Amino acid sequence: MLNSESLNNVLENKVISHQDIIEIYKNAVIDSSELFSVAQNLRKKFKKDSVTFSKKVFFNIVNLCKDTCSYCTYKAEPEEEKLSLMSKQQILELLQLAKKYRCVEALFVTGERPEQKYQEARDWLKENGFKSTAEYLIHASELALELGLFPHTNAGNLNFEEMKELKKTNVSMGLMLENVSDRLTKKGMPHHLAASKIPKARLKVLENSGKLRIPMTTGILIGIGETAEEIIDSIFAIKQLHQKYGNIQEVILQNFQPKPDTMMKNVPSADENYFKIIVALSRIIMPEMNIQIPPNLSPKSYQSFLSIGINDWGGISPLTPDFVNPEFAWPEIDKVDENSKNAGFELKCRFPIYPEFFSFISKELREKISIIENEEGLVKEEYWR
Ligand code: SF4
Repeated sequence: MLNSESLNNVLENKVISHQDIIEIYKNAVIDSSELFSVAQNLRKKFKKDSVTFSKKVFFNIVNLCKDTCSYCTYKAEPEEEKLSLMSKQQILELLQLAKKYRCVEALFVTGERPEQKYQEARDWLKENGFKSTAEYLIHASELALELGLFPHTNAGNLNFEEMKELKKTNVSMGLMLENVSDRLTKKGMPHHLAASKIPKARLKVLENSGKLRIPMTTGILIGIGETAEEIIDSIFAIKQLHQKYGNIQEVILQNFQPKPDTMMKNVPSADENYFKIIVALSRIIMPEMNIQIPPNLSPKSYQSFLSIGINDWGGISPLTPDFVNPEFAWPEIDKVDENSKNAGFELKCRFPIYPEFFSFISKELREKISIIENEEGLVKEEYWR
């Protein structure tokens, strides 16, 4: 009974408590149909009949990392073939190629402060004329902007000053919260060897992004050994940040997929129904939020998530792999378009910043966006098709 009552309250715009959500979760494990339908009604109410994506190029700037998360295959050791230390010339060449492919977003990704741990990273920075990875990212972002791409940096726990500098060129930035549970940092848990994943540290960076008015992408990794309560706590933590600063532009819900070369190689993928319940709960907890799932991580079923509350596919690249999930190729944009259409939704290309957040960025950045922006604040069709 509480389930139906609480769900009706959501539709009537009434506040729903943490305890109500726990009850809804427990009921949904037995039968999720009512939850899914309420989530979908909310999605339709706030996000209408379109689904967005960002046409991006993925710059794997440096994948050395001072931390070790048990599920991560992105991180490289210096002797590994997958090591990436991009030179300024390589960055320039990839930007030029991305322009030819009509990409809009330049996604810059690095490991966590690699120069703190690796001589190789310090040498690489020196060779290119920089003192820190953050300095290098500032340069790469300026270059991207000059060439007409819009930077979005995700480089782990940057400090306040670094983020302040990057805000000058980045229309938005990203940092996955992952999970707000301290338990996941204990011995034997996925974040035990990753100081940057301590929830307090993570939340501090997100707080700073709020103080700096940076449109921020964050999210949760689902299926890494957390409890449902911990996931729900994490969604509420994001909601609270957004209530305080208003700068969380989207929430990525990423389903865990085990990687063969990691400590968690034998842990099964996130169960799809569990994942879907979390997606629908997120819509209920944050009815107006942009909610994203990466289509490449649910290759056979991603379109079915359109009927349980999501409204965004995130970045899809026509020319670079997903270096974080290299075994999961991005679907072709035409295929995503077709599948979205078949599910009753129109695919639209957005900037790495959602239109609702345009007032957060400088006049200069806003002017650059306006050149290829349509009347909805999205990318003009003729620019990305
Ligand atoms: S997930 Fe990020 S912080 Fe963790 S090991 Fe990989 S690159 Fe480093």
